[in-house]
Amino acid sequence: MSAWEQNEEIQIFRDYLRIPTVQPENGYESCVAFIIKQADSLGLPYKVYRPGGADQPIVVITWQGTNPELQSIMLNSHMDVVAVFPEYWTHPPFGAEIDSEGRIFARGAQDMKCVGMQHLATIRALKNAGIKLKRTIHITFVPDEEAGGKLGMYKFVRTDDFKNMNVGFSLEEGCASPDEVFPVFYAERCMWRIHLRISGTTGHGSLLHENTAGCKLNYLLEKFMSFRQQEVDRLKNDSNLEIGDVTSINLTKINGGVQSNVVPSLIVAVFDVRVSLDVDHDEFDKMIQTWCKEAGGGVEVVYEIKEPKVEATKLDSSNIFWTAFKSVFDELDLKTKELVCPAGTDSRYLRELGIPALGFSPMQFTIPTLHAHDEYLKAETYLNGIEIYKKLVPRLANS
Ligand code: ZN
Repeated sequence: MSAWEQNEEIQIFRDYLRIPTVQPENGYESCVAFIIKQADSLGLPYKVYRPGGADQPIVVITWQGTNPELQSIMLNSHMDVVAVFPEYWTHPPFGAEIDSEGRIFARGAQDMKCVGMQHLATIRALKNAGIKLKRTIHITFVPDEEAGGKLGMYKFVRTDDFKNMNVGFSLEEGCASPDEVFPVFYAERCMWRIHLRISGTTGHGSLLHENTAGCKLNYLLEKFMSFRQQEVDRLKNDSNLEIGDVTSINLTKINGGVQSNVVPSLIVAVFDVRVSLDVDHDEFDKMIQTWCKEAGGGVEVVYEIKEPKVEATKLDSSNIFWTAFKSVFDELDLKTKELVCPAGTDSRYLRELGIPALGFSPMQFTIPTLHAHDEYLKAETYLNGIEIYKKLVPRLANS
């Protein structure tokens, strides 16, 4: 038995990992029961809201501050995890087994059941030390993040229950870092899922019709892919840029045709686009419409998702929570790198409302294995993370 197995916090973390909350058939109810048990053991009140439906619970544990009229701090994590393919794992994905190096293997070990339990561990440590904080802290556990959050945080921030929480700042997931530098996410690109419904002349496969769906698809693919290449080059040639700073475009689906000797009347091509912060949305939209006209017309652009522009969280003295956040890292002599998150998280729904939100998961010297087989986190890294939160949470709540 490794020394880690005796540690109470590690035990709680591993118990939480053993609850399989996989999208889409989630196991939220046992997860909620577990979190309520944690709230009870902390002696803190909790509420369960279900704005996204009876099977989409949100748990809010509240530690009231000494000055509760101040805006509160939200420590958020999502309960759900992505699918697993157990045949590719060397450990059972919901066994939370720990090896001789102290690596805990489980889906959610990095994304992001670690952070949810670290939040609770931090509050436990602070409470046990008799510490009182000025601002109220809400520790929130939300569903549906891995499916886009529409039934979770998106719905929740639109309720009076959320408004009554008077949230002034939110801390939520970041990403593991293979080196010593902690990534801190302050913004996200906008997600656009574009379906091009390309109609064309149909007919016998032996002829040479004009304006076929295939000819139009060819033209449009060339346009999308050359734009993509520009972004690839921009990223390659400027060492200051990270993936979150450029627009990504990927062709993700193509459907069409009924028979191999019939020219199809419709082909649908789907693109996953993440629009970078510096892009003018109207102009980008116009450019796509122009390409569709140039392709020969008859192309309908349908947006499965078209996220609006969202202001980034300010990283200057105008944001007292940023100043507080950064001061802790300076004091601990820990390096941070401020980045635009390449993927989507629930932070975007808070930023949309003008609430500053940072994405941070305390996992340095850790290979990112989120969404991968054999996702793991070292016990030591997990416990070190709690030490960082023990400085960070009071600083934020007292600022
Ligand atoms: Zn996540």
